[in-house]
Amino acid sequence: MSTDIETRRCEVCDAVIPPERVKALPGTWLCIECSEEHGGDFVYTAKQENLGKAGSLKLNYGGVTVTKKRRVIRKGRG
Ligand SMILES: [Zn+2]
Repeated sequence: MSTDIETRRCEVCDAVIPPERVKALPGTWLCIECSEEHGGDFVYTAKQENLGKAGSLKLNYGGVTVTKKRRVIRKGRG
């Protein structure tokens, strides 16, 4: 038996993160418990792009840019 995913440990509590979770969220470094506690691994920021010309009354929204950032976890324990 072989797994293509290495055993990953939670960066907060050092618990083993289930491979299924790593597979679903390759960027995760938190176990489910800590992820819920902190509100997830990532912070999504949606920024609306305004492509309208300055001074124009007509707003031309070109779209929304979603920025995905890793949440900074403060290790307060220990
Ligand atoms: Zn954890």
